This record gives sequence, C-alpha cells and structure tokens, in this order.
Amino acid sequence: MQDVFCRNIDYLRISITDKCNLRCVYCMPEEGIKLKPHREILRFEEILRLVKVASGLGIKRVRLTGGEPLVRRGVENFVRKLIQIPGIEDVAMTTNGILLTSLGPALKRAGLKRVNVSLDTLQSKKFRKITRVGDLHQVWEGIETALDIGLHPVKLNMVVMRGYNDDEILDFVKLVYLYPLHVRFIECMPIGEADGWAQKQLVSQEEIKARVAEHYPLEPCDSILGSGPAQYYRLSGALGSVGFISPITAHFCPTCNRLRLTADGRLRPCLNSQWEIDVKSPLRAGATDAELRDIFLEAALRKPRRHNMSEAVWNQPRMMYQIGG
Ligand code: SAM
Ligand code: SF4
Repeated sequence: MQDVFCRNIDYLRISITDKCNLRCVYCMPEEGIKLKPHREILRFEEILRLVKVASGLGIKRVRLTGGEPLVRRGVENFVRKLIQIPGIEDVAMTTNGILLTSLGPALKRAGLKRVNVSLDTLQSKKFRKITRVGDLHQVWEGIETALDIGLHPVKLNMVVMRGYNDDEILDFVKLVYLYPLHVRFIECMPIGEADGWAQKQLVSQEEIKARVAEHYPLEPCDSILGSGPAQYYRLSGALGSVGFISPITAHFCPTCNRLRLTADGRLRPCLNSQWEIDVKSPLRAGATDAELRDIFLEAALRKPRRHNMSEAVWNQPRMMYQIGG
C-alpha cells in the first residue's frame, strides 16, 4: 500500500486497550481516565479480521501497544492468532514492563518476537514520581525476564525530559555495556498531558547525542531489527547499542511507513493529525473485506506529508494512551 507521497505503508500499530497500570506524567492525568465502555473497544476477533484485510494490502509488521497492552486479558492467545495470519512477518509489543515477568514466557511461547520496554529512569523514587504509581523493581525484573527468555532484541525507550531525567542519560548508556539492550532516547512530544510543557522540557536529539559522544565514541550502525525511526549507534565493546528518536527536531515523516489502529476502532494515518476514520462501525455493520480494504486505502491516502508538532500545540481530544504512541 502506498500513500500519495510514495511511502510504502507496511506497518500497523495497534492499540489494544486504553487501560493502563501506570500514570506517567507525560501521558495520563493524575486523577485517572474515563475509560471507554467495553463495547466500544474492538474485540480481538475484530482486530484479527482487520489485520487479515491489512495484510492483503501489504501490512507485514504489527506492533501492539496501548494503554498498557499487557493488562488486556487473553493477550497471549491473541498474539498466537495474530502471528498465524499469512503475510504478517513480525509481531512486536511496546510495554511498560510491569507485567512482563508473569506474561513474558507465555507471550514468547505464543510467538512474540521482541519487546520495547518504556523506562525513563533507573532510580526508584524518580520512577514513582514519573509514573506516579509504579515500582521500578517490577519493570527491571520484566526486562531481565525478556532477556532471559530470548525476546530479541529488547529495546528500552527513554523519554528524555529536562529537569526530570536528563541527568541519567549516561547511566542509560552504561546499561548497554552490561546487557544486550538497545537504549533509545526519545524527544518528549507536546502530546496530551505533555502539551504545554514538553517544549520547555525538550532535550533535543543533538544535545543528547553530544552529551553521550563527549564520553563514548559513537559509530553509526544499521537499524536494529524493526521498522522504526531510530538512528542507531554502536559503542566499542558494548553488548547493545544506543538510538535516537527525534520526532521534534529531526522529524522522520519522509520515511513514515505506518498506520495506527486505536482501541476503539479508528484508523489514524498520523500520530499528530486529528483526522481518523471509523473502521469499527462498518465492521460491525457487516462490511465486506473489499469495503474494509477501501477504508485502509483511504487512511493511507490521507497520510499528511509531515506532522506539525514543532510548530503547533496538541489541539485535539485524544491523549497518547488513547492512540498508542
Ligand atoms: N504503556 C506502554 C508503554 O508505556 O510502553 C505502551 C503505550 S505508551 C503510550 C507508548 C510509548 O509512548 C511509550 O514509550 C511512552 O514513553 C511514549 N510516550 C507517551 N507520551 C509521550 C510523549 N508525550 N512524548 C514522547 N513519548 C511519549
Ligand atoms: Fe501507561 Fe504507557 Fe502512558 Fe505510561 S506511557 S501512562 S505506561 S500508556
């Protein structure tokens, strides 16, 4: 499937829930959220049907996200079925890692290949401050489980925020000498809860890279397995690598290859665009595969050339946990 700018769309990010067991300051309001009623959330069978249609259009890679994907009951069985869909070559997940120790082995048996774990600090107190409710120990155990059971590669996502965790950039780099982890530094986006302060807190990719390069020579390397926008660097003698994801200061829209499916059944062509198309209602009204294909094609055709996060604020109702990152 191609969009009007000749980008090949072969990647679908699927949010399977808007629920989460954390309350990260940049993502969710402290008081919690008003969850969508259960009937509004796509059932797993519905998502499987949509992925079958999408794979017929050239979607090859799928990432499960949320909210927190591991809080949705039955996710292991869902992953098993997803992997069996002809044409789907890769199924991965982005998780906060809290439930990885308990669910990782079953997911691995189901065929999950790899995980990205979001972790913004290596300090317990700060972890509690950023996530408001979380226990760092559980996430770290989850990361070790992922490494032990061979979910590979394991990538860590660190959203860098000035004054919160930018003092830990080098501590995260040290991790890649100790473990085969791929640490990705992500610029905080002015989305949802972070709207209004992300720009003030922004630490640019250039600054992060300079801070790392002052202590560690960085050699550019090919992307680590996956289809994301990170630029990776090897460090001599390290087991893993570091990567930089810079949606704000060096947006990667020209190579954007993805569509997003929200938990409540909307297709979104761009994280930062308000436009989305309802695929759940036609699906539930008995749409044929051909009709569903047309909805995917329309979503692809409506992909904007680029997002405008660096110029504008987030003036739309959806929060990050409702889109999936
Ligand atoms: N709960 C899972 C997790 O945290 O990994 C998956 C959903 S979460 C919305 C997906 C990713 O979006 C996480 O890596 C999170 O750090 C990132 N994220 C959320 N809000 C963000 C923001 N304002 N700027 C940059 N990344 C953000
Ligand atoms: Fe939950 Fe992930 Fe959002 Fe944190 S970033 S509140 S873990 S959905």
